[in-house]
Parts: sequence; structure tokens; C-alpha cells
Amino acid sequence: MPTGALRRIKASRHQLLPAVISPGAREIVATLTAAGYQALVVGGCIRDTLLGQQVKDFDVATNATPEQVRALFRRSRIIGRRFRIVHVHIGRELVEVTTFRAGHDGNPDAPASARHTERKRADHRGILLRDNVFGGTLEEDAQRRDFTINAIYYDLASGELLDFVGGMEDLGQRSLRVIGDPGTRFREDPVRMLRAARFQAKLGFELHPATAESLAQGRALLGEVPPARLFDELIKLLMTGHALAAYEALRQHHLLEQLLPDTAAAVAADECADRFLRQALINTDTRVATQQRVTPAFLFAALLWPPIAATIARPARATETAVLSEAAAEVIAKAVRRVAIPRRFSTAAREIWELQPRLEAPNRGTAEQLLEHPRFRAAYDFLLLREQSDEELGGMGAWWTRFQAASAATREAMVAELQATPKRRRRRRRAPAPAVE
Ligand code: ATP
Ligand code: MG
Repeated sequence: MPTGALRRIKASRHQLLPAVISPGAREIVATLTAAGYQALVVGGCIRDTLLGQQVKDFDVATNATPEQVRALFRRSRIIGRRFRIVHVHIGRELVEVTTFRAGHDGNPDAPASARHTERKRADHRGILLRDNVFGGTLEEDAQRRDFTINAIYYDLASGELLDFVGGMEDLGQRSLRVIGDPGTRFREDPVRMLRAARFQAKLGFELHPATAESLAQGRALLGEVPPARLFDELIKLLMTGHALAAYEALRQHHLLEQLLPDTAAAVAADECADRFLRQALINTDTRVATQQRVTPAFLFAALLWPPIAATIARPARATETAVLSEAAAEVIAKAVRRVAIPRRFSTAAREIWELQPRLEAPNRGTAEQLLEHPRFRAAYDFLLLREQSDEELGGMGAWWTRFQAASAATREAMVAELQATPKRRRRRRRAPAPAVE
């Protein structure tokens, strides 16, 4: 949308009240304003409030530099290199305060001087390596944001909403539209493609046609993103209560192939693996909705299980545990090249996997001990999950459920009985799928 298309929506014409803004964010705006700076509330909190959704956190935009913000708030910290912002703690709240950036190539209205410096901070492919040139206007700040619905500002002083990019209209149409030229904006920062999938999943919006087309053309650019950022974004996609929808969006746009290619291949080739992963994500969503703990360890145990299961189901296996460990090591080693899974999580995921054969075939000596294993609970949940997605495990999930609740005498009888009955379990119901598409 060209310059000058600013839409101001007076307080009397919208339903947003200052009270929906957190006390911390209001205090930050008040302090910055009293110090002579411009400060407005913007981003997901405005978008979600206007949609009647629960707000996660508050973002403030200001023309004060990070150092100037830092000087005003005792409990504040400058973070980020590529994109420096300030984290301000007020009470138990954390508010992100972001400085207006000067315009860049994506914004033809930016002054030539700003465009010049900006170009120097992007690499030859157009990927923005740094975006820390401050001194921009509010409108320039709007133009550098990702989606129109994320660039609606709330001016607490006047009570007005300020919309430079048609965000209000797109909210009404439930359309997710990149600001500016979507091809250029996705190239500048390919993570925006994952954000598109995330907002599509979270809000149930449609991608604007031009945004969808650029996403389809640009998805390979995710290969240029540092694995640590992909890990962070994957956590946001899958641990914030709409994991199943996010998984569907990732598959729809062929983005899972860019993140975890082995998992993408395994779920595409094997319906059972797809069902397993969906069930894991449904369970994750339920846990988030009911305020139960979710851990990246369990999430990655589930995400990487399909390629592991495909590997260990191949014939010519040695002892089960050894084959499992080897497959686990291989799958993790490949995955971390794309998504930087911290070692503490991958180690815990391995423990969950390695407990599976032991839970499938417990014996007299170890059944009781397994209950004490620090990963027992997660491994037991994982076993139930495999059964829930129709893997035939001889009813061992139910067996462990009973075993945990049983008295010592009953437990002994249960183990004895188990060993008396011949093994009838099969690892997988159907023929193993090839590991590649
Ligand atoms: P939520 O907090 O629900 O995840 P959000 O839209 O607030 O959603 P944040 O990551 O908190 O997302 O970012 C705050 C705002 O900063 C966004 O609304 C958007 O305007 C801008 N933003 C964040 N990441 C990017 C990006 N990669 N490129 C451009 N603008 C971005
Ligand atoms: Mg936010």
C-alpha cells in the first residue's frame, strides 16, 4: 500500500480499550512518552485482541534507540544481533521493546541514504544479515513488519488505531498478507515463511494469493536460515497450542521437508507414521490447553520417531536395542544439521526411544526398576501414543497402567504371568515404508 494510506481509527470506532493492554506495556509506553519519545503498542497483542483471542505477550514500538530504552528501565536487557531489541521486565511481565528501523530496499519510499546502508547489510541473495539502522519513522516501522495484520498500532494517548498497510481490512477478510513484495520479504528473512504457517494455523486465516505463491517459490530459502533459529521457530509452531494445525500447514506448503526432511519423507510414505505424529501433536495441544507441561524432548522424540521406526523395521536387525540406538544416532545427527536441537533434548528423546523395547517386553528383574527411571513417565506416555496411533504392542500400554497402580503382590503376579504367556507382539502392523519418498 502506498504512503499516505494511513488509516486512523478513532477510539469511538473500535472496541479496543486501554485496559486490555497489560499494566507493564502501559507503564513502558507512559515512561517512554514522558521522556519525550514516541511509543505505541503493536503486533500480535493488537491482532489477537481485535480477533477476540487470548494475548500471549505485548510488543512496544518506539523511536528511542535500544540504549535509550535501556537507560529508562532498570530491569532491561538488549538482546539479538541480527535484530536488536530490548527485553523489559515489569513485575512478572516481559515486554519486547523494538526501535523503529529506517526504511530499506523493500520500501521504495525510504530515503535513498537509508536504502544504501540497508543494502550493505543484506547478502548477495537479499537475505538481511543485520537490521539495526535506527532513526526510522512510524510508517517505516510499519513497512518493515512481516504481515499486514501484525502492523496495526495502538496509540494509548489518543486511543486511536493506526494502520498504514491495510491490516484492518485483512483482519476482516481473514487474510494473511505479506507487507510489500512477498518474494523480496521472504528472501530478506525466510523465517517469515514459517511465521506464515504459524499464523495460518493459529488464526485459521487464508494466505493472500500473492503471499502463497511467493511462499511456494521461496521455500528452499529456509536452507539459508541458521539451525538455531529454525529450532526456536519450530518450538513456537508446535508447542503453543495449535500443533496439529501447524503440522498441516507445514505439510501443505512443503515446509516440513525443509526442516526435517527424513520425517517429512517417512510421514509421506507411511500412513501409520503420519497418524502417529498427528496423535502426538493432538496430545500436545490437549496438554497445552489444560496447562500441563510440554517438553521439547517429548516433541522431538515424536518428530524423529517416524524415520527411526522406518529404519528399525527394516530386516537384518541385530539386537533390538543396538539397532534402535544406531538408528537414533543417525537420525539425530542428520536432523541437527537443519534444526539445532539442544543436546539435553536429543539425549532425553533417545532415552524415551531406548526405553520402548524395555516397556514392550518387561521382565521380572527390571519391571519394578523401570518405574524409577527418570524418563519412565515420558516413555510410558510415548508407548501409549504408539498404541493410540494403532501400533499393535500386545496391550502393553494398559499393562503398565495397571502395573503402576498395583500393589507389590499384584505386580509380582503380573510379571510372572507376563513371562508365562508367549510373546505375540509385532513391532509394526504393516510392511515398513522405505525411508525415502
Ligand atoms: P505472537 O507473539 O503471537 O507469536 P507476534 O505477531 O506478536 O505473534 P512476535 O514474534 O512477538 O510475533 O513479533 C512481534 C511483531 O514484530 C510482529 O507482530 C511483527 O510485526 C514483527 N515481526 C516479528 N518477526 C518478524 C520478522 N521476522 N519480520 C518482520 N517483522 C517481524
Ligand atoms: Mg508478540
